[in-house]
Amino acid sequence: MSATLDAPSVGGCTEAPVLRQRGQREVFCGLTGIIWLHRKIQDAFFLVVGSRTCAHLIQSAAGVMIFAEPRFATAIIDERDLAGLSDANDELDRVVSQLLERRPDIRLLFLVGSCPSEVIKLDLSRAAERLSAQHMPQVRVLNYSGSGIETTFTQGEDACLAALVPILPRDVSSARSLLIVGALADVVEDQFRRLLSAMGVEDVRFLPPRSGIDLPAVGPGTVYLLAQPFLAETARALEARGAVRLPAPFPLGVEGTTAWLRAAADAFGVAPAAFEAAIAAPRARAETGMARCRAELAGKSIFFFPDSQLELPLARVVSRELGMHLVEVGTPYLHRQHMAEELALLPAGTALSEGQDVDRQLDRARAARPDLVVCGLGLANPLEAEGISTKWSIELLFTPIQGYDQAADLAELFARPLVRRMKLRI
Ligand code: SF4
Repeated sequence: MSATLDAPSVGGCTEAPVLRQRGQREVFCGLTGIIWLHRKIQDAFFLVVGSRTCAHLIQSAAGVMIFAEPRFATAIIDERDLAGLSDANDELDRVVSQLLERRPDIRLLFLVGSCPSEVIKLDLSRAAERLSAQHMPQVRVLNYSGSGIETTFTQGEDACLAALVPILPRDVSSARSLLIVGALADVVEDQFRRLLSAMGVEDVRFLPPRSGIDLPAVGPGTVYLLAQPFLAETARALEARGAVRLPAPFPLGVEGTTAWLRAAADAFGVAPAAFEAAIAAPRARAETGMARCRAELAGKSIFFFPDSQLELPLARVVSRELGMHLVEVGTPYLHRQHMAEELALLPAGTALSEGQDVDRQLDRARAARPDLVVCGLGLANPLEAEGISTKWSIELLFTPIQGYDQAADLAELFARPLVRRMKLRI
């Protein structure tokens, strides 16, 4: 299969027109990112400064993960009769002190802002500075916004990582190091580390780290690879510290993973033979695994609603490696620089859209009757009821899908809803 992938049509969708819409949108807010970030940074705690709605979202979205000592909570401050902002700050200080007393294992505390006007009035960055000074050196307190007014759900991760960048230690050496940026499942991280080590790239660091006290150093010798496509602010912050981005498609599917690893290999002067030797076996396994799903998916049509910002790389995988036909590929934001390699690989003529006007987009989807729609939870049920198979885009965030060993799992995520519907028909 992938060895015989089509060469990209000249420029692919590099110059393609993009339908821009600024209407009603159906997407989670940035608080959702806490659900995967709290698993990743194991000594961090996420304190949402918000309303009961925020508490409800975070608990129901993370419902399956509520256990004895969760590492996220909500300080509810909207429904009280506040005499003034100083009261709100006192209340926040009290909640934080109580939390840190009860949980001495916390090393990194994020105050996560939200939408209610009472919260917007609070200066959380000053609160974070004040609390950091108070609880140093045991705990570092940072803040970012997960508000639905400012963020869609994957932007919460971007805001969180961008908040971490200023406190990363400075690497003064000019020796080249590789920073992989974007939350990945530990198992995926380990695979990438092994593959890179096999080709001789040893100094590999990850952001976010697994521990808040093990922050990766950055400096002028740092080159970085984005592992997730929604990290515009983080990238900007890293570049302000001297790090240089390696342009590459994202590590999804066989083709994307190979090109992404090759970008690192080229930056470190790895010889082509060493590169091939390191990737040959896992790439072959991934190709075999994906071939099974290709048989089920080839020729089927797919429509992406804008949700996670993973849409373009996913569209590239399903079209080029699984033979699916792209009806429309929507993305909440199109970062042309970060997406340049993805756009070049998409089939020429793909209908692209940025932003959302949900009713119009639903009309387009209904008219096209695609075999599969990738969308948020809120749209999935009505579409299923109309006989259209759906895949929840949030699943693509929760499931490890990057790299060779996950390529078949990624393909299966698309095949499963179609197989299920076929069985229901039988
Ligand atoms: Fe809280 Fe705003 Fe998200 Fe609603 S949209 S859960 S109010 S941050």
